[in-house]
Amino acid sequence: MDPRDAALQALTPTVMVPRFGEFEPLAQPGHRFLAGQNGDWLEVRRAWLYARMPLTKASSVVKPYGTVTASLEWMCPPIPLALFERFAGMARESCPLEAAGWITWNEVSNEFAFREVGVREASASRIHFDRPRLGEGEHLVVDLHSHGRSSAFFSGTDDEDDRGEVKLSVVLGRCDQKLVTAQRLCLMGMFVPMQLASAVDGLMFKPAPVEEPRTFVADALV
Ligand SMILES: [Zn+2]
Repeated sequence: MDPRDAALQALTPTVMVPRFGEFEPLAQPGHRFLAGQNGDWLEVRRAWLYARMPLTKASSVVKPYGTVTASLEWMCPPIPLALFERFAGMARESCPLEAAGWITWNEVSNEFAFREVGVREASASRIHFDRPRLGEGEHLVVDLHSHGRSSAFFSGTDDEDDRGEVKLSVVLGRCDQKLVTAQRLCLMGMFVPMQLASAVDGLMFKPAPVEEPRTFVADALV
């Protein structure tokens, strides 16, 4: 085998899920692919997240593998509402221009922080910024940006920007009125629409039913 293929496959293997034995989840940060009886799956681990999401449906040809179940586990605590409110304030002040910011979580101190980004250029329809430099054990968890007076949705540019990353992506829209939001979990190019699961001690997210209106974070921000 070409050593480059050996290296790639060792780093991101496709695992045949056992039918009789116990499945062992990915233990280290990274991602891999799971071949199950019920299709191919993406498995992702970060310090703050563990996820298994379907990539394909089961094939008509039965595979002799085990069944994979969907999973989304937060390894970090709920995200403080105050950090979202801080960004909502920035988004309103910047309106009609776009604004952007990050919420990070440090696995060593177990603390969240709001990180301003180095804005190079902002208009009413796009924003360019330098990514903040993160400290030891600090991870990007929420990538925030606003759409000025426009609504909250993910544009083709957003899809391009979010591809290949593992993070929550949140858009704030109608920043001159009552805010609306859209949020999704980005998993290496897969986008999972999210809704608010709880806002009791901070914000917790869960996958949204496809038909669900996505205004839940905005409701928590009132
Ligand atoms: Zn956008």
